[in-house]
Amino acid sequence: MSEILLGILGGGQLGSMLSVAAKKLNIKTIIYSDDENAPAQKFADEFIFGQYNDKTKIYDFANKVNYITYEFENIPFETLNELNKLKTVSPKPSVNRLIQHRLAEKDFVNKLNIRTTRYVSIENRSDLEPLGDFLPGILKTATMGYDGKGQYPIKNINQIDSLNIDFSKEYILEKLVKLKKEISVIITRFGNNKYEIYEPIENTHEDQILKHSKIPAEISEKVFNLSKEWSIQIAEELKYIGTLCVEFFIDRNDNLYVNEIAPRVHNSGHLTINAYNISQFENHIRAVCSLKQIPLKKISNAKMINLIGNQITEYRENPILDNNQYFFDYLKKEIKDKRKMGHITILN
Ligand code: ADP
Ligand code: MG
Repeated sequence: MSEILLGILGGGQLGSMLSVAAKKLNIKTIIYSDDENAPAQKFADEFIFGQYNDKTKIYDFANKVNYITYEFENIPFETLNELNKLKTVSPKPSVNRLIQHRLAEKDFVNKLNIRTTRYVSIENRSDLEPLGDFLPGILKTATMGYDGKGQYPIKNINQIDSLNIDFSKEYILEKLVKLKKEISVIITRFGNNKYEIYEPIENTHEDQILKHSKIPAEISEKVFNLSKEWSIQIAEELKYIGTLCVEFFIDRNDNLYVNEIAPRVHNSGHLTINAYNISQFENHIRAVCSLKQIPLKKISNAKMINLIGNQITEYRENPILDNNQYFFDYLKKEIKDKRKMGHITILN
């Protein structure tokens, strides 16, 4: 078969890991990013620096590749839609548009009779007044949030004015769930009822940023089965192609809720690189490039630790690891507070 070239929009660590997985399959990658220092350029075959609305550069990119995918969800819908006229974009742009918007995303999930947190749309400051019932809650921007950015925990209405919230943006207010645990399920869908699904992963957050992930998750059989069932249902309903992650909450009464959907490979799935025969990244590449689907086999239990901000420093300076430990450095230009700089996976 002639050489396959995959275009990836976004140049962060997920783009790097996709490029590495592609290389293993003899697929070349071109990264397109609006960040001149995008770390994925170090792992890809080619790098294009450009804005996501730069038509000329976006067309040049499309003309070079056979397939297109993306590694973060906040790419303008218009861009994905234009690209999709030239080359197949997977997951398809309409999926991304739906999931980009927290309200549309939650409405979609609820229509499938899948439980989410209680939520309400907020367009003005005054919308918040009668909503004591949703407190304590979290006000979240409807679009563009990640790693807890754009989120305001609210205990009572009186607090709101001191938070300096920009009400020119759209928000949702979500009732706080008394969390027992958070888990995620990663699934790669290849076509109708054709998918590979990983076992649920247990996640711990610090400051709303993922810190630890592990398999097996310590959860009931009911939650284990239901989280997989709901993830399959969501992927099928979206007619999704590629790797998708569903984030869940489990409350103190063992009720399961969908928190959000990520239309891409996911941080909690980094441990699949070492713990499974096929990683979430390789599976994504296989699905979006129409390669063969291979049955998943778990190799080991595992734990992943994110290295945030200067936590990376000691590992860079002294990378002594046992032979069941794997260190990944995202090679970001600058160490920044609250920025994911690398991770360690430990097989056990
Ligand atoms: P992001 O897009 O930043 O990942 P999330 O909605 O997933 O935003 O929120 C980040 C984290 O904040 C969650 O993983 C969870 O720990 C906490 N959180 C968010 N919403 C709620 C909620 N309604 N109840 C309890 N915890 C929440
Ligand atoms: Mg999240």
